[in-house]
Amino acid sequence: MSLEQGWNLDNSYCQLPEVFFAETDPEKAVSPKVVLLNKNLAESLGLQVEKLNPEVLSGSELPERAEPIAQAYAGHQFGNFTMLGDGRAILLGEQITPSGERIDIGLKGSGSTAFSRGGDGLAGLGPMLREYIISEAMHALGIPTSRSLSVTLTGNDVYREDVLPGAVLIRTASSYLRVGTFQYAAARQVTEDLGTLADYAIERHYPEAATENNRYELLLANVIERQAALVAKWQLVGFIHGVMNTDNVTISGETIDYGPCAFMDEYDPETVFSSIDVNGRYKYGNQPGITSWNLARFAETLLPLLDKNQDTAIQIAEKQLAQFGKVFEREWLNGMRAKLGLLDEKPEDEALAKELLLIMKDMRADYTNTFRALTEKSAEQPNWFAKDAFRQWRVKWDDRRNQQVASAEASYGVMRLSNPVVIPRNHRVEEAIKAAENGDLSVLHKLNQVLSTPYASSKEQDPYTRPSISSAPYQTYCGT
Ligand code: AMP
Ligand code: MG
Ligand code: MG
Repeated sequence: MSLEQGWNLDNSYCQLPEVFFAETDPEKAVSPKVVLLNKNLAESLGLQVEKLNPEVLSGSELPERAEPIAQAYAGHQFGNFTMLGDGRAILLGEQITPSGERIDIGLKGSGSTAFSRGGDGLAGLGPMLREYIISEAMHALGIPTSRSLSVTLTGNDVYREDVLPGAVLIRTASSYLRVGTFQYAAARQVTEDLGTLADYAIERHYPEAATENNRYELLLANVIERQAALVAKWQLVGFIHGVMNTDNVTISGETIDYGPCAFMDEYDPETVFSSIDVNGRYKYGNQPGITSWNLARFAETLLPLLDKNQDTAIQIAEKQLAQFGKVFEREWLNGMRAKLGLLDEKPEDEALAKELLLIMKDMRADYTNTFRALTEKSAEQPNWFAKDAFRQWRVKWDDRRNQQVASAEASYGVMRLSNPVVIPRNHRVEEAIKAAENGDLSVLHKLNQVLSTPYASSKEQDPYTRPSISSAPYQTYCGT
């Protein structure tokens, strides 16, 4: 039955030592009903969209060759080390796609596991729709991320503050190996298992390093490079992850764990949305520093593999960690150059970009719409563009652009590809989820469609470009 659906699962993760997972059967849904199905993603995975059924998409029926497991991992949660593991996620296996890629296929919200720590392992419809909307929007924005294949109502109730309709999300990623997986291995102090995990991660994500003598150092260097580039991309679009615990930091460099994340409207480095992040540890302005901190935790786990001599191992780790700032600055600045239509590099570019951000902060400017207004003369120009501070900045920006060889047309072309017209505005996401909870999926479908081409300016996008007019600060919640 499920063979016709195009499943082509392998289970290489299950070849790791048994301590890295626990076999777990997903819960059966009483009356599964598909709410969202990502046709493009399904096709790229080699799945037959028409044949996928609610039983498989809810985890009630297993695809051929699925070996359902919960992954073990640890993590620093808001700075405190904890043993964790998939508490409400189950990995079904790795789909080998028609193009030969190996993609993790996981259920989220399919019942408790050996790592649920008293939780029910379930998920409400709203939060799963939220993960679908935002992860797919991130993908469309060109940011490495896990993806969402489907959201399926289970027909079971989920008990939180309210009774919620239960749902299962199927999510995909190039793997769910995390910094936390390495912390788990390191905490157990079995160096052989740690080496096995590291070799597995290298094979999956950095195979070119597999035969090198210093492959563990290369693993560290590559993860630092990918994570620095990732957080630069988050900063450039105003994405706030909200729960950057080390168990949510991937070895692949993809964004995972869409809980309390949200996009910033007004530019302010202090912005934090998550109700549980009371000290602002994961506020927008802290994200690069926190990534660096998380990577230091990763480096620590690798010490026994980096060199037999601990001092030498520490030196290697420190040398690589010192690269983070350089890679981040380079990626961020190059991204800012593109947002400002600068096609070559000048030393003054950083000051130019930072000066604009300072003005934006003073003006409480909408982050996304400001860059788009610079890109498109037809876009609504904010009133504060008439103020002296901005006009003086604009003269410098114009001068800078006039100095470059590239034509104005080429410069605007790059800006159009670097400054999104639409992002998942918080009130739009809430509105779509509310309508879906009341049985109307049209708002959700429309939103997903608009978010799928974020850089294309059209009349259709217009109503989705406005920030909320609500004056109450937006708050997000996780774990529902
Ligand atoms: P997160 O903050 O989303 O990374 O989750 C932290 C840990 O809590 C992970 O190990 C999750 O699997 C687990 N968890 C979150 N929600 C639930 C739930 N409803 N039941 C069991 N475990 C959960
Ligand atoms: Mg998590
Ligand atoms: Mg989560």
